[in-house]
Amino acid sequence: MHCQATKTPPASEIDIAATHAKYLQERARRMRKEGGEQYVSTGKVAVEDYTHDPFTPVSPREPMTGEIEVAILGAGWTGVLAAYHLSQAGITGFRLFDHAGGFGGTWYWNRYPGLQCDNDAYCYLPLLEETGFMPSKQFSDGYEIHDYFQLIADKFGFRDKGVFHTVITSLKWDEAIQRWHVGTNRGDDIKARFVIMAGGTLSTPKLPGIKGIDRFKGKMFHTSRWDHDYTGGTWRNPVLDKLKGKRVAIIGTGATACQAVPYLAQYAKELYVIQRTPSSIDVRVNPPTDPEWVKSLKPGWQRERQYNFLHAANEILQRDEPDLVCDIWTEINRNLNVEREAQGWPELSMEEFMARRDSMDYRVMERLRRRVDSIVKDPKTAEALKPYYRFMCKRPLSNNEFYECFNQPNVHLIDVAETQGLREMSEKGFVHDGVEYEIDCMIFASGFEVTSDLKRRWGIGEVTGRNGVSIYDHWADGPRTFHGTMAHGFPNMFYTGYVQGGLNGNTTTQFGSQAYHAAQVIGQVQAKGKTAVEPSKEAEDAYIKRFHELELDLSIILNECTPSYFTNEGDKEAKWFLFRGWGLGWDNFQQMVGEWRDKGDLEGMVLTG
Ligand code: NDP
Repeated sequence: MHCQATKTPPASEIDIAATHAKYLQERARRMRKEGGEQYVSTGKVAVEDYTHDPFTPVSPREPMTGEIEVAILGAGWTGVLAAYHLSQAGITGFRLFDHAGGFGGTWYWNRYPGLQCDNDAYCYLPLLEETGFMPSKQFSDGYEIHDYFQLIADKFGFRDKGVFHTVITSLKWDEAIQRWHVGTNRGDDIKARFVIMAGGTLSTPKLPGIKGIDRFKGKMFHTSRWDHDYTGGTWRNPVLDKLKGKRVAIIGTGATACQAVPYLAQYAKELYVIQRTPSSIDVRVNPPTDPEWVKSLKPGWQRERQYNFLHAANEILQRDEPDLVCDIWTEINRNLNVEREAQGWPELSMEEFMARRDSMDYRVMERLRRRVDSIVKDPKTAEALKPYYRFMCKRPLSNNEFYECFNQPNVHLIDVAETQGLREMSEKGFVHDGVEYEIDCMIFASGFEVTSDLKRRWGIGEVTGRNGVSIYDHWADGPRTFHGTMAHGFPNMFYTGYVQGGLNGNTTTQFGSQAYHAAQVIGQVQAKGKTAVEPSKEAEDAYIKRFHELELDLSIILNECTPSYFTNEGDKEAKWFLFRGWGLGWDNFQQMVGEWRDKGDLEGMVLTG
């Protein structure tokens, strides 16, 4: 696959100082003093209960009370990769628990029309070489990913280990038996030797705390609980014919809304797209998988591609390193390399390189703003749809139909930037700028709890380690871990996600490496005939000190980006922060942790039993 530079406007055509000032202005007018508190959990309002599964009927079952070796809490990517790595390590006494009705996590719950993965499927879908599966195109449809989950569970023999429609309500360490009591909403009391927290980062839907949201008498649902009975169509065939004659509003213009809006626009009588901050949306080039390319792949190709993507999207492409993925995520680094190659690879200091990178960021964003003008006919609407922020302030998107929708007479952009979001709903619809808009249905594409209070996010009422200490107290000032995966006082409990570790934008690589780590540590503890493992206080303190010394510099994101879950809604002091990562990069973190593991002595850990 040959990948070329994109045609960005030259820096001379952009008033960078004025654009920068506009970026800051756009940020300032969206900053809300409530920060993350502007959102409310689903359950109390609008959606009956986010644990309710509209897709699969719940079957009755007897409570479980036995002993198991590992309880994997979550059956999305992290959980399934943990199951895979445990199986590979010969550890089979595990079960996966999930409130969903099957494997899939995000890809179980999200069934909205148009759902596709925004990441290159050849990187994102894990274990492609191990399963022999090949995605049908570069950006997979949601159901293809869901089906792939089932394939993995079957191929590696753990389909029968899923315990579904089961919400974890308590986790209590029992010193006497050296196990965790896993309590659930099904009356279970499972005694698990080890626990892997595999709940994912985008699993708990959130709603904007809009005045009057409870008064609305029409239909409401969150995009991760799409109601096909109401809209018509199915997951695999999104013909939303029941929306004919209906007035629909959708709140949000992030990754989810951008994909769903074209379908709503096609079927609804009127569609109101309520936007606070526009996304940057490029063209989606999504070719079917080329069988000749597949034939040309050599063993190890997926790992190579994933590393290439990491360099191109999150770090820096090396000299002569091709851009294998060639999408919106990799554009800036690709363009820089093409430019440097044309100049005969001049020597650049880090400052010079970063200055070029900065300039390319403005050029790419300007290209994306001009794309809006080239499609949207009404100049006022076009202006409102233009993103004014740095490239990675928000997740970059690609979609071929979203902007076109705004040329349709039934589609209306409601720009709520000035009021920092929609502020009011009524019995009949929503109110903005003194006007009441009557609607039949409000759809919340308002995202997920990513860095809010841990208890709210995990949804587990009680998590107590040694001596009855609650993790919520232990982490009251933010996470304290060793390698981002274990905490002193909480034996045999493994964490996953973006917590005090290396950062990799390909989430399945990130979570997969943590799942592998947990499986390996469990294997080592078992091999030593021990029953419990936890980091010593000294080891944990030393790791945290080192982590903070090296921590990534987030000042640009914090000071210049428009607020979102990437920045904890602009709260610089937030305890939980998505991108607080290992400052020496992903490779360095993997190497450091890998060497620690390979030594096999679990240095810094206290073993019991
Ligand atoms: P996001 O959190 O990205 O977007 C939420 C949207 O709701 C934003 O546009 C936000 O505006 C808007 N919003 C929130 N409150 C209000 C309010 N009071 N009034 C008006 N608008 C409001 O959620 P998504 O579900 O779109 O995406 C979440 C993440 O899920 C993505 O970033 C991505 O990581 C993942 N995802 C991945 C997909 C893929 O790979 N295909 C597809 C979908 C999601 P503002 O920006 O101003 O805060």
